[in-house]
Amino acid sequence: EQPVLVLRDVSIAYDSPAGPVQAVSHVNLELMPNTIVGLIGESGSGKSTLATGIMRLLRGGAHLTHGEILIKGQNVYDMDAKTLRKFRWEAMSMVFQSAMTVLNPVMTVEQQMVDVFLAHRPGMSKAEALQKSYALLDLVRIARKHGKSYPHELSGGMKQRIVIAIALALDPALVIMDEPTTALDVVVQRSILEQIQDLQQERHFAVLFISHDFSLVAELASRVAIMYAGRFVEVTESGGLTVSDQDHHPYTQGLMRAIPRLTHEDVVIEGIPGHPPDLVTLPTGCAYHPRCPYAVPLCTVERPEPRDWQGRLIACHRFDPQKAGEFSHVS
Ligand code: SF4
Ligand code: MG
Repeated sequence: EQPVLVLRDVSIAYDSPAGPVQAVSHVNLELMPNTIVGLIGESGSGKSTLATGIMRLLRGGAHLTHGEILIKGQNVYDMDAKTLRKFRWEAMSMVFQSAMTVLNPVMTVEQQMVDVFLAHRPGMSKAEALQKSYALLDLVRIARKHGKSYPHELSGGMKQRIVIAIALALDPALVIMDEPTTALDVVVQRSILEQIQDLQQERHFAVLFISHDFSLVAELASRVAIMYAGRFVEVTESGGLTVSDQDHHPYTQGLMRAIPRLTHEDVVIEGIPGHPPDLVTLPTGCAYHPRCPYAVPLCTVERPEPRDWQGRLIACHRFDPQKAGEFSHVS
């Protein structure tokens, strides 16, 4: 079976007054159809940049500097504008944290849904597009009468449900969800996540689920990539992640113990001392070394390359496959 998404040695940089800044560095990932893969990282780790890079929606001077992004075997960066436009809804779609960046405030919900169908299905009648829009509302369990509502008349949870419905309108094989529930309160979050799970099982699309919330991702996804300072420090099955053992990258271990805290804009992970690094002034060697309880002098000078250990990738000097992942506490 062909992967839905392949990231092959992908790097993304943006221009800054201080010169090019590497936001994503040499990441590799494969997503098979009908699976949920998680992407975890703190604010500024590059996860949203990677998401917009996959959609080829990079802005603000950001651009792909290395590698390939394939969706259903097609290189996203080789497509002409027309193919890309078609691809963006029909093969891949994206759900952002804020519904308001997607929904048009001056159009009713059903107008917006109808527009998506009419733009992509030239032969479709307006009546048919409307029927399909109602079916989408049914799908995300929103009463059809709300089709006549404007976004501001709906709750945050309803708006996010509608955004998810629109993302699924044309049955894409891949849906990228970037903190899709972070702006919502906990109860609403729960119910939307359950709904995403139900929809995924019903419609078999693949999801790249991006979040700072470690326990949530471990529960939802079958495989998880952990991102730090633009790199994947670990890619692992999520099965073991609820067990607080030492068999993981030191940053993963930190995340497992940490408690995420919401700020107005983004998310800070508490419990790991120090801060995620500024990408402009990245620490030498392993970028995690200033915060890492296991750091040795080598960590400050040499960057660890990801190594394969029983299907799990870990980038750490101290991770010894010979010792089944045990960290030796030599000083
Ligand atoms: Fe910690 Fe060194 Fe491993 Fe980086 S390479 S995570 S600093 S032990
Ligand atoms: Mg983000």
